[in-house]
Amino acid sequence: MTTITESKKKIFKLFLFLFFLIYIVSLKEESIQNSVLPKYRVFLNILVILWICTFLIIDSFKVFKTLGKSKLEIKHWDAFFWLSWIFLSILFFTTLEFNNFNFLPIFNVFFAVVFAFFPLKIALSFFILTIIVEYLYFCVFPWQRDYINYVFFVSMITIFSIFGYILKKERKERSIYESKLIEIKEGAKTFFSNEEENLDYLKAEKRLEHLQSTYGYFEERILKILQQIKDLIDPFTVAFFKIKEDSKYYKIFEAISESDYLRYNDDIPLDEGVVGWIFKHQKSLNISSVKGGNRALNYYDQELPIASFLGVPVFWRNNIVGVLCVDSLQDNAFNPDCENIVKLAVLQIQETMENIQLLQQTQQQYKEFSALYEGSKKMMATITLEDNLNIFLEIINQITHNDISILAIKDDSSDDAFTIRAVRGVSNEVIGKVVDRESLLYWVIEHKQYLDLRHYNSKKKIKPLISESLKISELQRVIIYPLMYEDSILGAFILGYKNEGPDDYEKRVIEILGNQASISISNAFLFEKVKNMATTDGLTGVFNHRHFQEKFSEVLLRAERYNEKFSLVLLDIDFFKKVNDTYGHQVGDIVLKKVAQILKSTARKVDIVARYGGEEFAIICVNDDKNNAVKFAERLRMEIENTTILFEGGKLNVTASLGVASYPEDGKDKVSLVEMADRALYKAKHEGRNRVVLA
Ligand code: GH3
Ligand code: MG
Ligand code: MG
Repeated sequence: MTTITESKKKIFKLFLFLFFLIYIVSLKEESIQNSVLPKYRVFLNILVILWICTFLIIDSFKVFKTLGKSKLEIKHWDAFFWLSWIFLSILFFTTLEFNNFNFLPIFNVFFAVVFAFFPLKIALSFFILTIIVEYLYFCVFPWQRDYINYVFFVSMITIFSIFGYILKKERKERSIYESKLIEIKEGAKTFFSNEEENLDYLKAEKRLEHLQSTYGYFEERILKILQQIKDLIDPFTVAFFKIKEDSKYYKIFEAISESDYLRYNDDIPLDEGVVGWIFKHQKSLNISSVKGGNRALNYYDQELPIASFLGVPVFWRNNIVGVLCVDSLQDNAFNPDCENIVKLAVLQIQETMENIQLLQQTQQQYKEFSALYEGSKKMMATITLEDNLNIFLEIINQITHNDISILAIKDDSSDDAFTIRAVRGVSNEVIGKVVDRESLLYWVIEHKQYLDLRHYNSKKKIKPLISESLKISELQRVIIYPLMYEDSILGAFILGYKNEGPDDYEKRVIEILGNQASISISNAFLFEKVKNMATTDGLTGVFNHRHFQEKFSEVLLRAERYNEKFSLVLLDIDFFKKVNDTYGHQVGDIVLKKVAQILKSTARKVDIVARYGGEEFAIICVNDDKNNAVKFAERLRMEIENTTILFEGGKLNVTASLGVASYPEDGKDKVSLVEMADRALYKAKHEGRNRVVLA
């Protein structure tokens, strides 16, 4: 089995190139001597055009592939062949001179481009080749000695070549300035970032940006170290190469050099050059006399007469991260003393890295702490549960850009029922919905464990998030965290993402904030409890008399301002003393609780239900005129009459009498309205109880 190696291919191509060159030169001569070409020549010429075109196309592919990758960093050989075919085609056409059209000026453009974009070596070789070929054409073969035209031609291509070369220099300088400018801008961005945006420091991208700000300090330190080496051993170049994050390339990080040809902006593949050798073998390299050209010193754009090279690897936490090297134009430039100096410098670099790491850690920790502090301060500042939950979801959203969030909290009434209390990114109608026991959210609550589902969308046979009836689609990732406080579960929250969602770092932040939220939620619970104690009746759970009076005033004020109606219903249980006397106070209490429950469930959410006295209740029907209020009162009466109250050891039925008064017809202030309702109630009792009477 034989394989054509790269170098054999190169020789073959070179041979072809030379062959055609000779053919074209001979063609030139012939075309000048005979005005008409023989027939076989025409055929051969077509063949030549086809050949050239084929190679031009093949090499174009190679060249353009690399062009896209690294901005005109073409391998020398590929560039050389590609240009050769272009060169041959121009040469070829200058020979044919179609319709007296002169192709010579195309050479000018060719050289401008070659000098602008390709290595000087290649450009010069084509330049010399052209001068020789055209010398033969102008001054030798036709024996015409047309020196004037030859000098004109050569001066033209020289001018264009110089022009191209200047362009290249400028391009190089500009790219250096541009990259410096970007660095400065980045630096300024981190430096001037607003202190108030503290919360931002919990975002992953901010964190990275912040890490970069210490980069400037590192660069400064490295430059100082390189300067020391320069002062002590005076090398031609001293450079620190750093491995790139992808571990495939290395790059000059900082350098001090006598040469302008250092490849500052290039990513060099890890397997190339002497520096690459050090990266691969992870040991120092001291070459006292560089032989056989110095293509291995590929950190220069140009071949330079470097004679000595010394490179030392830089390790960080057992990994090779960089190479510090010096080179010189003299043989045997680096004796053991020099080697020690470079090795000491490597130690200094490692120390700097250690310091940077510490600096980054402390700064980042400080920022994170203050951001967390800021977040929890916000949560702590709000006392009500509702505000608390909403702020929590907002903070989480600021950090992780989630598309939806849903938060459920334990119900007051029972220990294993949970209701949605705050949402973001989904309809507010979800608030108040009870969490289904067969849902993912309930699973988290039950197991007190978090869930992290990637590719949520593609999972078909999965429990619903909250309940079967509530569909939330198009989520890529769903994370559900429990909210725990001292071992007891307070609730849980869902974060949904249409994209990949948070990374591990952001997840940790969410967890910390979740814990923080748990504390403030349980505080808010406590606050709600205390507030409830002040406003509700301990036995029945409806508003107490004092709070009823406050609410009454509010409703009246509103009605006056907006010209609204409302009605007051007073209710008194019939023969309640008898219930107490027959069954005891405890059963009396059960009856009171049951009646309160009926009132709560029959009244609308906006209505105000209160315990007015011992076994008397008051209900304000907001926005109801007398007609509606009577219907409501009648419904209440029937509901009470038809409800059998069960208690340990028996059951009983009670009835109630109700009096209704309406604003504004029956009274325009609290006192007169209560009086009118009371009178109606009295009348109901008098007329035989278990009935509704209007004022
Ligand atoms: P009427 O049909 O005329 O209303 O007859 P009544 O027996 O209900 O008479 P009244 O309204 O005067 O009786 C009120 C009784 O309610 C007096 C008190 O023993 C009882 N009571 C008041 N508060 C409570 C309480 O919190 N628990 C219990 N078990 N009984 C209460
Ligand atoms: Mg009474
Ligand atoms: Mg009574």
